[in-house]
Amino acid sequence: MARAMTELRLFNSLTRQLETFQPVHPGEARVYTCGPTVYNYPHIGNMRAYVFADVLGRTLCFKGYRLTHVINITDVGHLTDDADAGEDKMEKMAAEKAQSIWDIARHYTEAYWADIKALNIRQPAQWTIATDYIDQMIQFASDIADKHCYELASGLYFDVSTVADYGRLARAVTDDGEGRIDEVAGKRNAADFAIWRKTPPGETRQMEWDSPWGRGAPGWHLECSVMSGAVLGFPFDIHTGGIDHREIHHPNEIAQNQAHCCTNGLDVAANSGANIWMHNNFLVERSGKMSKSSGEFLRLQLLIDKGYHPLAYRMLCLQAHYRSELEFSWEGLGAALTRLKRLVMAVTNLRAQADPAKTPGPRFADHLKRFDAAVADDLNTAVALTVLEEVATTKKVDAGEKLAAIVTMDAVLGLGLLHLDRAELRVRPKAVEMTEEHIAAAIALRKELRSQQNYAALDRNRDELAAKGVEVMDGDPLGWDWKLGE
Ligand code: AMP
Ligand code: ZN
Repeated sequence: MARAMTELRLFNSLTRQLETFQPVHPGEARVYTCGPTVYNYPHIGNMRAYVFADVLGRTLCFKGYRLTHVINITDVGHLTDDADAGEDKMEKMAAEKAQSIWDIARHYTEAYWADIKALNIRQPAQWTIATDYIDQMIQFASDIADKHCYELASGLYFDVSTVADYGRLARAVTDDGEGRIDEVAGKRNAADFAIWRKTPPGETRQMEWDSPWGRGAPGWHLECSVMSGAVLGFPFDIHTGGIDHREIHHPNEIAQNQAHCCTNGLDVAANSGANIWMHNNFLVERSGKMSKSSGEFLRLQLLIDKGYHPLAYRMLCLQAHYRSELEFSWEGLGAALTRLKRLVMAVTNLRAQADPAKTPGPRFADHLKRFDAAVADDLNTAVALTVLEEVATTKKVDAGEKLAAIVTMDAVLGLGLLHLDRAELRVRPKAVEMTEEHIAAAIALRKELRSQQNYAALDRNRDELAAKGVEVMDGDPLGWDWKLGE
């Protein structure tokens, strides 16, 4: 049962309003998140979408719901353009790298999973892989083909005029929906989209399957409709994705779901597939490094190589509301890291004094109430974080109780404060050559020189270290001994 605290309110993109969460199945929450297309490494903007979905899942658990979360892996069907123009992203990358698509998919899926782990994003109940669901996709398409689709030389197309209110999620004008400049000859409506793409005569694709509409591959939108419905059942509670999906991908999923649910006699409430559609806003970066086509693009590994702990990026995400645009900068990341360090320092000190109590105790009831109110207010993590910091800095309270309150809150924010070691948070770029042992020896020497009050030698030692890229931090309020310079 949901906890008797503030009721959970979430912003539903369908109605553009905050709505009280009412689960389809009492006590349960079923969530589907559009996953990555595994043709390249995810950039940190992509990862914002999964940090958001993770905070949503953790909040649902905090509120007492049994969570079933599904994230898909798109290993076929996503074109270089969200409309029907362009090539299959997977086929294109495989051709460029002269590798098998299956190898490419495996490599980038593993890279994505490594980022998921590094960001403390919890494993969903199920990862659905698109190519494992081809039979169900063909079945789904067959079910709706007669009433809602038509065939052209290039594939089976969905006729958006056959469902009520197409595009209400995007608030787009149906006739010339954005992003559909490249017309496919013969389409009845500009917004119609392929749900099955036939392999052009004379060509072979690495990934293709037989279907009633010829050999080919499923459309990207079909994949998500099928996988979400197959695992969670229509209607399920919440469907998430980045805000770009609000324009084409999700309206098309909804149209298919409407068609499928009507065909199967479900009522209107079930038609959209999910009751609530939620979208995170974008992480933006001015110089264009977010683009996967630019040389040094912003992957999580780049942050790590420059010496930033990946959870500093999670902190950066948590500081903003998921529906606000978030601008990335190295200074901002540095500030988020410092904030994380302060919390880790506080928790490390508490742990030295006590184990977490079993429950937070009455001293923190008010803090927990405010924390709960913040996350229940459409996942206001920015406010929730400040409440957590208030707990961490409260004086003269039992360390165990304080730790317990922090643990309860961190279960929602997912920073993993109890498991982080302060030494791991040092900025230590890969490019700097001095080893940890050398630095430790130099720092030990500094301590000795200080005890001898040999300030001239201390200054010399500082300069020597600086020349090697190590900045000593005497008197740092966080108790850090050193960091590596740029
Ligand atoms: P893709 O692999 O392109 O399908 O994208 C994976 C997820 O990242 C989707 O939910 C996108 O909507 C989301 N996304 C893409 N770019 C950004 C960005 N700059 N900031 C936040 N989310 C993004
Ligand atoms: Zn999707």
